Amino acid sequence: MRIVEAASLTETVKRLCIEANRNLPPDAQECIRNFRRKETWPAAQDVLDKIIRNFELAGEKQVPICQDTGMACVFVELGSDVHIDGDINAAINEGVRQGYQEGFLRKSVVRDPLNRVNTGDNTPAMITLDMVSGDRVSITVAPKGFGSENMSRIKMLRPSDGVEGVIDFVVSAVEEAGPNPCPPIVVGVGIGGTFDKVALIAKKALLRPLGTGNANPYYADLERTLLEKINALGLGPQGFGGYTTALSVAIETLPTHIAGLPCAVNINCHVCRHAREIR
Ligand code: SF4
Repeated sequence: MRIVEAASLTETVKRLCIEANRNLPPDAQECIRNFRRKETWPAAQDVLDKIIRNFELAGEKQVPICQDTGMACVFVELGSDVHIDGDINAAINEGVRQGYQEGFLRKSVVRDPLNRVNTGDNTPAMITLDMVSGDRVSITVAPKGFGSENMSRIKMLRPSDGVEGVIDFVVSAVEEAGPNPCPPIVVGVGIGGTFDKVALIAKKALLRPLGTGNANPYYADLERTLLEKINALGLGPQGFGGYTTALSVAIETLPTHIAGLPCAVNINCHVCRHAREIR
């Protein structure tokens, strides 16, 4: 059994909070540049040029890519041969606290959803802990802005709605969102499971490197179909028209009940941030 001090995770989370907010992952940068090369609408070209310059400047000057530095979503995969010595939740939250303070990242979290007093340090993190095999700990920090989070949708479709129902729901969610999630967007889609799990897999889908299709050819094909239909909407970057409404669609699935077809859409803006460390 490998022992990892919980306190040592604090430094990792702190570093990942700062890294994710300043440096757009290379796959996202490449994907945006590829769409810029294909885009033909002048207003869309102009917006994409500004988006590219923005993430380049953020990387060069080591400043946040966006003023909304997000709620810290932290995904932990904990190997079953690892013992965490201490309180893992407290260690992660301390890392978020330090990262948002030392990285001069905006504090965007309120303690109570109705009384709305800012916690002042961007805690608590939204922590998802999964047990996996092995002796490693994987930590991913994915700061989530709420311009896009607010546009996410969930629906308990009927089994008879089938794949056409899924397509209609996903494309409608993007169309209703319009310019609010700061397109071009990344669309995470969860299909199956239960009400709670379908939302989680839609969010996890956003962590997949852009341009990497689902391992199942059927769902990889559905991802391409959805991307084509979404980009045929003509919303374009920041809603000014054009082809580039979405950069990618990623689908994750789970087995589900014979009587249901849960579907969730978790939208991310073009600032598709996340940073990972495996220890
Ligand atoms: S949706 Fe994204 S780009 Fe728009 S304000 Fe929020 S974090 Fe920034």
